[in-house]
Amino acid sequence: MASGTLPPFPTKLFINNQYVDSASPVRLTVVNPYNETPIPYEAHAASASDVDAAVAAAKTAYKTSWASFSPAQRRACMLKFADLVERDAERLAILESLPTGKPVTPTMQFDIAHMVEVWRYYAGWTDKISGESYPESNGVYKIVRHEPLGVCAGIASWNATFMYIGWKIAPAVAAGNCFIFKPSEKSPFGTLALGALFAEAGFPPGVVQILNGGAEAGAALAGHMDIAKISFTGSLGGGKAVQEAATKSNLKKVTLELGGKSPAVVFADAEVERALGGVCGFLFNSGQVCVATSRVLVQKPLFEKFTQGLKSAFEQTSSTLGADPLDKNVSYGPIVDKAQFDKIMSYIAIGKQTATLLTGGERKGDKGFFIKPTIFVNPDPESPIVKEEIFGPVMVVQTFETEEEAIALANASVYGLAASVYTSNIDRALRVSSALECGGVAVNSPFLPQVNTAFGGIKASGKGRELGIYGLLEYTEAKSVHITLDVPKL
Ligand code: NAD
Repeated sequence: MASGTLPPFPTKLFINNQYVDSASPVRLTVVNPYNETPIPYEAHAASASDVDAAVAAAKTAYKTSWASFSPAQRRACMLKFADLVERDAERLAILESLPTGKPVTPTMQFDIAHMVEVWRYYAGWTDKISGESYPESNGVYKIVRHEPLGVCAGIASWNATFMYIGWKIAPAVAAGNCFIFKPSEKSPFGTLALGALFAEAGFPPGVVQILNGGAEAGAALAGHMDIAKISFTGSLGGGKAVQEAATKSNLKKVTLELGGKSPAVVFADAEVERALGGVCGFLFNSGQVCVATSRVLVQKPLFEKFTQGLKSAFEQTSSTLGADPLDKNVSYGPIVDKAQFDKIMSYIAIGKQTATLLTGGERKGDKGFFIKPTIFVNPDPESPIVKEEIFGPVMVVQTFETEEEAIALANASVYGLAASVYTSNIDRALRVSSALECGGVAVNSPFLPQVNTAFGGIKASGKGRELGIYGLLEYTEAKSVHITLDVPKL
């Protein structure tokens, strides 16, 4: 399918299982980053009163319909939803691809496939959320229950929205909560199309609702007195605002999945082809990935060979850039919008002053927000291209001599999301993975989220965890019940 011809899709808010007009006249307009033409549809933007309406519907559903569903009934809805997403995968991928430029094929093969897997995984948890019990001591018998929280909310960035829908909504509803999700104003259509699928899957009205909107709608969710928990994926600044609004309102629980400047540490004993393949995974979604290894640390003896390998792989990718992301043969797309494009180009300008440009360093073509995959080597260690998250196809390569130096360089960041270590020495792999300050480390591959392990960051990359049992328990609160027994005295 070519950009320009579109299947019909919803543009209103999804509240109480219906698409409804927003109370506010504000509409979201988006531009196709492939050809810079406006997409001829506008999404309704939620106001604070729309947020109130969704919260009221969620409160009712939480106490009535969803509470009355057995774990098996909840599981059935979740599994049906996953099946429906698979059925509609291509249409959903097109709706997500149009405003973001993320090509449909990787969107289907990675984002949507992962989302489906996550819904099926958490469907299996609905009847396995157990607690603990302790034997009587001093006449008191003790039980700990993991209870749902009530109404929860999620706010997401645009770069992999379908994945965040899995990470946030699936564990929440599996545990018995109701959920309000706000996608980014840059990617309103794909998420909204899921509303009809939630209804078709049998979720009662109010259990899952979708509100489009920008920072104002996000702030209304973060500051709402009747929302018990919010999970935010986005920038450090947005995360701080959400944390502050949560603190100032009802001290709701907060999970923050924020930015990164993730290192890949490549030792001279690494299997070079494998390490090159893994490090080049950085270019997935044109580097607009939170865990992308934007800093590559290479041990000196391997530096020349490795950087030449990177250069030719980046140039090969660059030669494919410029095609329509809706074409199923396309793997690499443009940058999401003009603002992000300009931000990346400004970092490239800084890089040219503070490092050696190995390849790239300019836009490709004069239409569409395409940027040639770029590598800077030997940067000034204090340069913003080393210190700050760029969120685009700009990689910085530094060298090191010893393991200690590599660890110090890798940890010299305010962020702590993910890291990769490439080595054939298992002792070193274990030592270094333990010394790295981050939430997840991959050995001999890029760090990718897995359905059953914890995902999240430390330091300025956030707090709390998604995926696995860790992500599930974030949507419950432990309640202790102490039962005093009349124990006969011996
Ligand atoms: P952003 O912070 O601008 O926006 C993210 C979301 O927050 C959007 O839905 C936006 O409307 C909303 N928002 C903005 N200001 C808000 C406020 N004051 N209150 C409430 N909501 C608000 O981020 P972005 O540009 O969309 O995304 C890129 C960032 O997201 C990068 O820093 C990237 O690393 C990060 N990210 C992190 C992860 C992760 O899992 N750690 C995943 C993807 C992206």
